[in-house]
Amino acid sequence: MFQWTKKPGVAEGAAPAVRDINDLKGQVAVISGSTSGIGLALARAVAIRGGAVVLNGLGDPSEIERTRSELESSCGVPVRYHGADMRKGEEVADMVAFAKHDLGRLDILVNNAGIQHVEAVEKFPSDKWEQIIAINLSSAFYATRAAIPIMKAQGRGRIVNIASAHGLVASPFKSAYVAAKHGVLGFTKTVALELAQDNITCNAICPGFVETPIVEKQIADQARTRGISKEAVLKDVILAAQPTKRFVTTDELAGIFLYLVSDLGASANGASFSIDGGWTAQ
Ligand code: NAD
Repeated sequence: MFQWTKKPGVAEGAAPAVRDINDLKGQVAVISGSTSGIGLALARAVAIRGGAVVLNGLGDPSEIERTRSELESSCGVPVRYHGADMRKGEEVADMVAFAKHDLGRLDILVNNAGIQHVEAVEKFPSDKWEQIIAINLSSAFYATRAAIPIMKAQGRGRIVNIASAHGLVASPFKSAYVAAKHGVLGFTKTVALELAQDNITCNAICPGFVETPIVEKQIADQARTRGISKEAVLKDVILAAQPTKRFVTTDELAGIFLYLVSDLGASANGASFSIDGGWTAQ
């Protein structure tokens, strides 16, 4: 019969150390584009677990204030808002500095803000191209560059970039978005290598389709571009790519996010995590 032998040095009755990956008490997270959708869900995931949050994003000021104060009072943690425009590098850097000045530290940076425009490449408007590259890609550079000295001084940091299945594969009519998201994965790998010995990790999450305002707008745009109904876009375009035939939920994204920001995620570095119902397995 198997007999368990006590390891030398282990005290009788000593319980193994339990690391609760859900405990974010005392930590501070900056999440770009967190006034709606995935960013707001991740902000809630942090605040529920005791972390303070800096929200960012566009929207009606009174609606944003309602969201901020509801999160703060329901979770009992400080929740701030910074209105940086992700198209402007200086404002992005100021948002990161604001977390340190106002909340005293910065543990988690989530580069999440993103926009989409659906159009054939030969008709793709230059201003839309520039905006998508600025918001979906360059803002991650400006925020990360500003966050690194703070994280290095603290001796620990977690950077999570919300890329997309479109960081790994393409779809027609999304040239700027696909280019930006592929760029995010390259940036993620480079940052990870540079910071590998600083106890700072940088990873990307690649969601499939999640039901948020960005997708609701795409359904209308795709219907116009392809000349088909919104119902047909949902069935034949959006969920056609996703083998589960359902949207990914924000809770499912929060699951991988909590792992990546925890101590258990310390060796996940420079990686991209597909949470896409099997889309990119095809
Ligand atoms: P969303 O439209 O709900 O959220 C986008 C957020 O970015 C909003 O808070 C918006 O205000 C903010 N934003 C846009 N322009 C900004 C600017 N100039 N300055 C500051 N904030 C700005 O969409 P979402 O689905 O939650 O998207 C979040 C991220 O997830 C994006 O990077 C998106 O590409 C990515 N993503 C989404 C899906 C999906 O199916 N929803 C799939 C893969 C990846």
